[in-house]
Amino acid sequence: MDAGAETGAETGAETGAETGAKTGAETGASASVERDQQGRVLLHGLTRPRLTRWLADELGLDEVAGRRLWHALYRQRASSLARVRGLPPSVCRRLQTRARVDALTLAEVRASADGTRKLLFDTDAGARVETVLIPGPRRTTICISSQVGCAMNCQFCLTAKMGLHGNLSAAELIGQVVVARREFPELPPIANVVFMGMGEPLHNVDNVIAATRVLVDQEGLDFGARRVTVSTSGLVPAIERLGRESPAQLAVSLNATTDELRDWLMPVNRRYPLARLMACLRAFPLRPRERVTLEYVLLAGVNDSLEDAARIHNMTEGLACKINLIPFNEHPGTEFRRPEDAVVHAFRDALRERGVSTSIRRTRGDEAMAACGQLGRPGERRARPRRTIPPARLKARLTAKPA
Ligand code: SAH
Repeated sequence: MDAGAETGAETGAETGAETGAKTGAETGASASVERDQQGRVLLHGLTRPRLTRWLADELGLDEVAGRRLWHALYRQRASSLARVRGLPPSVCRRLQTRARVDALTLAEVRASADGTRKLLFDTDAGARVETVLIPGPRRTTICISSQVGCAMNCQFCLTAKMGLHGNLSAAELIGQVVVARREFPELPPIANVVFMGMGEPLHNVDNVIAATRVLVDQEGLDFGARRVTVSTSGLVPAIERLGRESPAQLAVSLNATTDELRDWLMPVNRRYPLARLMACLRAFPLRPRERVTLEYVLLAGVNDSLEDAARIHNMTEGLACKINLIPFNEHPGTEFRRPEDAVVHAFRDALRERGVSTSIRRTRGDEAMAACGQLGRPGERRARPRRTIPPARLKARLTAKPA
């Protein structure tokens, strides 16, 4: 865990050779394998080429054995290495001393009346990780966390109040998905993964890229690349890396249409202002029919005017994108409010009338505090996040006193 990283840290290289868009090639993966405190390798942290290489180097096993272990981990969702289909018991015994399957322990499940489930995992380091399962009629979406807490300090987000406690390893990212598939076979198949839980995924970009490759591996978890989405507050260099090195879809939390407002709501904007962010999105490699998603949290009286809608249209002209409006989910201590439904609908209609493809995200998981921006235990705060001063013209519009 590397706590204390700076807000908006440069997580990726600024430049770098163009490796060809969306090849998913093994570039940029860190060389060492993840191990637990007993020195056992955390298997969920390895992409398939790296698992094969590790088995060859450490146990002298061939590619066939690698494939069998991979199938056990991801098709059979094995939780132990005591018996692996197709591997002799002697090999399993050696594996058990050197490797481990689950990096996380499922500690608690909280269900909401709307069917949403919040999963609470414990890490070896004693941290709590939150994952949300959102069942739909045919498919379940899993919303996974990428960090414990977050360093980005977005003013409207509950997780931000915790500060950053650390990154999740690739094994901990994949573990959330594998354990959920293993433990909830009664749900519609878990077929969508969104990196929209706690944390800023692109502030943990190496592990997130590795995890997206494991998710889409057709011999394993086999998520369609269209069904894996990484959401970011806008770390431009890491977005560029994601475009080169990951098959995942990109979502960006826009949330404001002027630098003045975005500088305040999302301090990352001071480092990567809107013009730079939008230029990076225009350059983002997309396959046919793919689009970038722009998330826009609607905050009453702050960013929900029809002028904002018009500016979104102007900013996104020529960009293959769709807008996902998220009516603000209130949480204790926040000074922000959710706009009336009529305002939300008018905002959507103003975008649609201009030809911008727009949807409204339905609030789910509210009563289990599992909705967008409601994850985390701010009581656990470590680094005290700075409160920033709102632009003067907005002060009067904020309805409640901050906590
Ligand atoms: N850090 C990443 C991943 C988090 S995704 C990112 O910023 O994109 C969580 C989404 O929920 C983001 O779009 C964020 O802007 C939004 N959000 C945060 N707090 C919220 C709240 N209280 N109500 C509604 N949406 C919120």
